[in-house]
Amino acid sequence: MTEKSKIISEIESKFIELFHHEPELYQAPGRINLIGEHTDYNDGFVLPAAIDKAIYFGVKKNKVNKLRLFSIDYKESFEISMDELEKTQVHWANYLIGVAVQFNKRGLKPEGIDCVFGGNIPLGAGLSSSAALECGFAVCLNDQFSYKIPNSELILMAQKAEHEFAGVMCGIMDQFASIFGKEGHVMKLDCRSLDYEYFPLTNNEVDVILCDTRVSHSLASSEYNVRRKECEEGVAILKKQYPEVNALRDASPEMLESVRSGMSENVYLRSHYVVHEVVRVNEACEALLKNDFVTFGQRMYATHDGLSKEYLVSCKELDILVEIARKNPDVLGARMMGGGFGGCTINLIRKGCTEPFIQEVLKEYPAQTGINPIIYRVKISDGAGRLI
Ligand code: ADP
Ligand code: MG
Repeated sequence: MTEKSKIISEIESKFIELFHHEPELYQAPGRINLIGEHTDYNDGFVLPAAIDKAIYFGVKKNKVNKLRLFSIDYKESFEISMDELEKTQVHWANYLIGVAVQFNKRGLKPEGIDCVFGGNIPLGAGLSSSAALECGFAVCLNDQFSYKIPNSELILMAQKAEHEFAGVMCGIMDQFASIFGKEGHVMKLDCRSLDYEYFPLTNNEVDVILCDTRVSHSLASSEYNVRRKECEEGVAILKKQYPEVNALRDASPEMLESVRSGMSENVYLRSHYVVHEVVRVNEACEALLKNDFVTFGQRMYATHDGLSKEYLVSCKELDILVEIARKNPDVLGARMMGGGFGGCTINLIRKGCTEPFIQEVLKEYPAQTGINPIIYRVKISDGAGRLI
């Protein structure tokens, strides 16, 4: 029995035990981001993909006008009247209430619904379990009540749920990837226009491995705010000479060099990283069209160097994992993934060559840090939807 079918059968039996009717089944995946880091708030590009780790939902309308929930992973129930949907102390329930509220705000007023859910996306590891939870439930409600809201709207509703009910002012990438993911493809998302394009990256050609540092340094949120300010300063300086620059995404490397003398070293380095990261995402996509995974991987390594040496959001543990990767010629590319200061590295590996690398990481990383890493093998998969 696969992990997925085990989770689903647990959901089905729990649903029947609690609610005495049969559920309908849905899933929503977590995501990775191949390249394009810290570009979202600079109106740039990202290159995410949905993965084969997901949250699974059993849901069905009820006749009691209540949202009745059961979390398999927390082994905890929660219920609330559909007329009194508001923030609660039960952390995980807020993501689902937050989604239901977005339907209310559109005047749709969903009736009572029962939901049992659980999954295998590690929580808080940077694979966006929260977006999977929101997107999955948005898809469930949309389908159960036949609202026919387009996916492009559902992602915005899921994002709003995260802003308003989890208090996390996230960008749109995570929700976008969880809904629009497509097996064997990455998505180049323009974070300004929300236009997107699929590029092939099939599971037959490369393997993707995530290595979890298992650290999360407390600098993450304060430094994030500092970076955003530094980027704004960069834009303000560029704009004096180039009025068309409204975000770092609009600046070319040449434009940046021409205003360098008017910038502090910090603002220059942060801007340099972002401007070149936008170029790297474009180059990486071109490489995919030629099946050139070597070039693609080199851009990933270059991104890591920029994040570590110019943007200063890496940490010792992430750098160690990337150095281990660099020594193995079968690891085509590796970099820290996510905001930084901990979390996972993402590694693009020649098909079938993952095991020696994993063994190296399991030996070397603890030797250098005293911490045992966690390895996740992921496959690029479809976005959220109903299970047949
Ligand atoms: P991530 O990087 O995984 O998105 P977050 O901190 O944003 O980390 O979201 C994690 C939170 O989402 C958890 O604390 C929990 O409240 C909720 N969550 C995610 N997955 C599940 C799950 N399988 N069951 C219950 N709650 C979940
Ligand atoms: Mg999250």
